[in-house]
Amino acid sequence: MSNNPAPSGKPILVIGGGIAGITAAVEAAEFGSEVILVEKEAYLGGRVVRMNQYFPKLCPPTCGLEINNQRIRNNPRLKVHTLAEVVQVSGSRGDFHVTIKQNPRYVKGAVSRAHLDAVTSEVPDDFNYGQSTVKALHMPHDQAYPPLCVLHLDALTDAEKTALQAAEPKDVIDLSEEPRTFEVDIGAIILATGWRPYDANNLDLLGYAENADVITNVEMERLASKGGPTSGKILRPSDGAEPTRVAFVQCAGSRDTNHNLYCSAVCCMGSLKQARYVRARLPDAQITIFYIDIRPIGRHEEFYYDLVKDDHVTFVKGKVARVAANGSALALTAEDTIGGQLLQQDFDLVVLATGVVPNNVDSPIPGLKAESDHYGFVVNPAERSGVYAVGCAVRPAEVSRSVKDATAAALRAIQDVRR
Ligand code: SF4
Repeated sequence: MSNNPAPSGKPILVIGGGIAGITAAVEAAEFGSEVILVEKEAYLGGRVVRMNQYFPKLCPPTCGLEINNQRIRNNPRLKVHTLAEVVQVSGSRGDFHVTIKQNPRYVKGAVSRAHLDAVTSEVPDDFNYGQSTVKALHMPHDQAYPPLCVLHLDALTDAEKTALQAAEPKDVIDLSEEPRTFEVDIGAIILATGWRPYDANNLDLLGYAENADVITNVEMERLASKGGPTSGKILRPSDGAEPTRVAFVQCAGSRDTNHNLYCSAVCCMGSLKQARYVRARLPDAQITIFYIDIRPIGRHEEFYYDLVKDDHVTFVKGKVARVAANGSALALTAEDTIGGQLLQQDFDLVVLATGVVPNNVDSPIPGLKAESDHYGFVVNPAERSGVYAVGCAVRPAEVSRSVKDATAAALRAIQDVRR
């Protein structure tokens, strides 16, 4: 879209600052609309920013993020509120009234070395899905937007609070900051609330809760990332050793009457990509992928067939029944439906391809009229409602589809606020 210097109409509200929300927000703002972007985390980027690489180009998320950060910084029509959530919506298309609650960050600008040295307490690092710890005052990641530290006030000792308040410059930290609410009139709403991984603790037979070396696909992304808990080395969490036998368990919590019945669409490609991470970093490792069907998205069939030809990669068609500790290894039991036998094999690392759960499934926004299916994905109505859901709020979706959704929703929202 080209720049249009004449803003008109009420602002567009974008709820969610992942890749879809950022795209919708910058597209609409660059067209000339006023945009308010609300994100519940302390930084933008959602799930994608925590990946090591993403399709289609298998680039690290930092490439796209840097450009988007620049687009956000350079556009005065786009206002970003992090640590914020929408707590009430009323009204209808063209005339919504929205209440936003913003939690305190306690950090108002660039912190100094003295601030950082004042805090030694540590908290689990959410960015690494809890696979490492981080100081209670820290930058979430290298390219975080806004470029401000996060402070976990509850984790600080009284001595740390005193030292932090005494550190120069003094106006950077405000420990007395309280949550605030504010209200805005809005013309259209883009719902980009994103997704979270299916909770692997529910998969009791797959041993996630009991075995450190059973990890999820999102945790694998952090393990493979240079900014991750092992600086990009793929190591067993239990003992830091390099795994030589790695299993990927497909449909972990998806296509299963006991969990989610739907296909999460992205986790086949996710595991194929991660098998390549293992091949690149651990060339001697043997990889086994247990699957019901391999469902490569769109034009990625070739990506799959390249791995089929690799003699370090074995595909076993069959559902994994159980993963349990066997000494220092993990014993995996699966039905090989092509070979017609029950397989029992030991592995050093097991990666569960957990699926996609819409974030809004258990926390609908009060007053927002958006219909959901029984899985919690939003159903966009055929007629214009002024509320447009995009990306994984609608169904499991890869980045390119989410971005297309976002651009289309930005256009509809622009039309709503200018009619
Ligand atoms: Fe299973 Fe693949 Fe569908 Fe994911 S994308 S639910 S792993 S078939």
